[in-house]
Amino acid sequence: MTVVSPDYDVVVVGGGAAGLSAALSAREQGARVLLVEAGAKTGGSTALSGGAFLAAGTSVQRAAGIEDDSAQEFYEFFMAVNRWDVEPSIVRRYATEGGPAIDWLMEHGVTFAPEEVVRGEIERVPRLHRAGGLGAGLAAALTRSCVQHDIDIAYGTRVEELLVSDGLVSGVRAGDQVVTAGAVVLASGGFANNHELVAKHIPFARTVLEQLRSPAPLTNQGDGLVMAQRLGAATAGENRAQVLLSSGITHDLEPVLPGWLICVDHTGRRFVDETAHYQVMNPLTLRHGGVCWAIFDDAALHAARGSGSRYGSGLWTKDTLSAAVAAGKIASADDVGSLAQTLGLPAAVLETTVERYNDDADQGIDSLFFKNPEAMTPCRTASFYGVPMRPAMMPVTGFGLRIDADGRVLRASDDRPILGLYAAGEIAGNVIGPSVFSGGAMVAGAVIFGRRAGRVAAESLALTR
Ligand SMILES: Cc1cc2nc3c(=O)[nH]c(=O)nc-3n(C[C@H](O)[C@H](O)[C@H](O)COP(=O)(O)OP(=O)(O)OC[C@H]3O[C@@H](n4cnc5c(N)ncnc54)[C@H](O)[C@@H]3O)c2cc1C
Repeated sequence: MTVVSPDYDVVVVGGGAAGLSAALSAREQGARVLLVEAGAKTGGSTALSGGAFLAAGTSVQRAAGIEDDSAQEFYEFFMAVNRWDVEPSIVRRYATEGGPAIDWLMEHGVTFAPEEVVRGEIERVPRLHRAGGLGAGLAAALTRSCVQHDIDIAYGTRVEELLVSDGLVSGVRAGDQVVTAGAVVLASGGFANNHELVAKHIPFARTVLEQLRSPAPLTNQGDGLVMAQRLGAATAGENRAQVLLSSGITHDLEPVLPGWLICVDHTGRRFVDETAHYQVMNPLTLRHGGVCWAIFDDAALHAARGSGSRYGSGLWTKDTLSAAVAAGKIASADDVGSLAQTLGLPAAVLETTVERYNDDADQGIDSLFFKNPEAMTPCRTASFYGVPMRPAMMPVTGFGLRIDADGRVLRASDDRPILGLYAAGEIAGNVIGPSVFSGGAMVAGAVIFGRRAGRVAAESLALTR
């Protein structure tokens, strides 16, 4: 019998943080690697991201003088904030390999300055490591390293099918091109731009589908997820996604709302510190009916200078707001009670809410939610304005393939690995738990599990080179 050797040892589908890491670590094991990227360049969502990498007990933290952090504390923290609704073996891998992954990234040209290690929202110590040049810098450095290490990259090539022979995943098909391989690593990212998949796997978003937008690349359509599901892959993370509030009038990514807004739910009451982190604001909005109304007055409109997002000033500038009011996209009225009627909110309650807020603003304390008083301005100058905000900006999807701690894709029917198939990054649904408590967990998870999957995929082929 003639044994035909495959075109490559490992084929990686997708060139974001997960795919680039998988390709490099497979190559480090001696594998011949092809990375296939649907877009004209590598980077994916990773290159658009802030490049924040959440890890504990790292050399960069130590260089910053943070000596008292550890993988063990991070593990316990991650488990606790997710109320143990996340797999311990996966979290353990994430926690222990975060530090080594940062050192490894630096060997491949990514920079992490100690002074750029900052505290996220609720961590005890600074753990957010900011890559030099942000996500674009991280992706560019890894791409350079892939080229230097003789990894072949096929650009503008959308993988459509996984090949299987003798029960083993044995390559990929893109159009009429077929590439055979000993193993395939799926790293094709999320699917927020594929509304059909969003409606199917993220039910809470069904009510905002028309307004739904994502800053993720259009090539992130969930292809890898669908291909693996055709082979019977198990999935996890149903109904999970990171969403930000959006008016639907502008489409910039605005993680935090301006502090001068009053946000109320359908009862006309405030329910949150309006400047809360998006990880707080959006789940809370969902629990309060999935829509909130941003209320402000004419003085605030004229002083509006944007939300301070690095992704654009969005709705919250004088000019944009004025244009939206003129176009009838923002409701206006001469008094708060009339505004409430226009918005369909209980007038008496909204009047009380605004009156109480104004008293608090005068006294310099938010007696209900302890918002920074410096952000508060009274809302009492006619006209009054209101606009509904919905969690309709979706940078990240959370539903995806179920992998084990080595990045093997598990089969739904018997919980065993699908031989020859690995996955990492946003395509995996069981790495980040229900409480994504801080930025930086997605990029870190992509690198950590990409690196692992590439290595294990190559090792499984018992390469002798
Ligand atoms: C604007 C923005 C800001 C963010 N900020 C942060 C942050 O600061 N910290 C953080 O942790 N997370 C952040 N996230 C989330 C994070 O960037 C992503 O979850 C993570 O980078 C995903 O990495 P990945 O490698 O899995 O996918 P990606 O980086 O999206 O890469 C997937 C790649 O696969 C390619 N691809 C898709 N389908 C195919 C196919 N069929 N064939 C071939 N190639 C294919 C795509 O073109 C893409 O290049 C942000 C996301 C966005 C959109």
